[in-house]
Amino acid sequence: MSKKVLVFGEVRDGELRNVSYEAIAAAKQVADGGEVVGLVLGESVQNLASNLIYYGADRVITVEDSQLKSYTPDAYSQAVMQVIDAEQPDGFILGHTALGKDLSPRIAAKLKSGLISDAVRIEEDGFIRPIYSGKAFEKLVVNEGLILATIRPNNITTLEKDESRSGEIVSMNVEIKDLRTIVKEVIRKAVGGVDLSEAKIIVSGGRGVKSSEGFKPLQELADLLGGAVGASRGACDAEYCDYSLQIGQTGKVVTPDLYIACGISGAIQHVAGMSSSKVIVAINKDPEAEIFKIADYGIVGDLFEVVPMLIEELKAIAVS
Ligand code: FAD
Repeated sequence: MSKKVLVFGEVRDGELRNVSYEAIAAAKQVADGGEVVGLVLGESVQNLASNLIYYGADRVITVEDSQLKSYTPDAYSQAVMQVIDAEQPDGFILGHTALGKDLSPRIAAKLKSGLISDAVRIEEDGFIRPIYSGKAFEKLVVNEGLILATIRPNNITTLEKDESRSGEIVSMNVEIKDLRTIVKEVIRKAVGGVDLSEAKIIVSGGRGVKSSEGFKPLQELADLLGGAVGASRGACDAEYCDYSLQIGQTGKVVTPDLYIACGISGAIQHVAGMSSSKVIVAINKDPEAEIFKIADYGIVGDLFEVVPMLIEELKAIAVS
C-alpha cells in the first residue's frame, strides 16, 4: 500500500548532509509509490529545499525560525511535531547522526510510537539493523502506527541527482515556545578535512601507532586518498589523538568504501563501528590479530614500514 513518508533534511554548516539524500532513497522504498516529503528546519534554509527534490522528494516543507538556527531538542521537536500534526505522514525517516539519535526518540515518545534505529537496509516488508555489535542482523516490521526510523549514514545508496526534477516547496510557520535551552554559539574543534562519519576512505590508527607523532603518516596517507583519519579507543585513551576520531561501539559508526586499520587489534567494540565498511585492509605486525578475521586484505608487518611504502606508491601513481 502506498504511503506518505516525511524525511528529515539535516543541515550542517549551511549544507544538507548526504544522509538526508540517503533517507529519501529509503523513504522511496517505504512509500511504495506514495509521496516522499522533505522537511528542512533552520534559520534560512529555503535555498536548500530544491536539493531534496533533485534527489527524489516529491515535495519539501521548510520551516524557518531564528530559534531553529542551531539544533536544540526542544525547538526541533516542537517544530517537527507541528509538521507531523499537519501532514499526518505514515512514516518519518531521519539519519542516524548525533542529531537524529537525539531527536528521533523524543518524537517517538511524544507520539507514543516505536522507533527503529540505525537501519542499514530496507527490505520490502521491513528494516534491517545490526545487533550484538554487528554480529547479527534483525529485521523489524512496523505493523501499525507511524513508521519512525533512523538510517545509518553511507549504507543506503542515494538516487541519482536529477536537476530537471521539480516539486512544490512550501514554507510553514510553527510556534516555538518555552525553550529550556538556547544555543548562543557553536564552536567547532578545528578538525579540517573530510568529515569522518561521511568519509568514503578512512585510515585509522590504534595503540600500535604509539604516539601522536605516529599519526602523521596516517594523515598523509588519508590526505593522498582524499579520506579522513580515525582511531581506536586504545589510541584515544593513550592521548595519541582526540576522542572525536574514535570509531566503535562508544565512538562513531562508519561505513566507508575503504577502511585501512593500522595497528588496531580488532576488539569487538572497535569492530562494531567499522565492520560494515565495504573493503577492510588491516596492517598489523601480529599475524594472529583479530582484525585479520574481518579484513578483506591483510598486511602482516610494521605499520611504520608499510604506511610509508603505500604513501610512496600513491605518490608515484599520482605523478605517472
Ligand atoms: P590494542 O588492543 O593494544 O592493539 C594494538 C595493536 O597494534 C596490536 O594488535 C598490535 O599487534 C599492533 N601493533 C603494535 N605495534 C605495531 C606496529 N608497529 N605495526 C603494526 N601493528 C602494530 N574500542 C574502540 O576502538 N572503540 C570503541 O568505541 C570502544 N568502546 C568500548 C566500550 C567498552 C564498554 C569497552 C569495555 C571497551 C571499548 N573499547 C572500544 C576498547 C576495546 O575493547 C579495545 O581495548 C581497543 O579497541 C583496543 O585498541 P587498539 O586495537 O588500538 O589497541
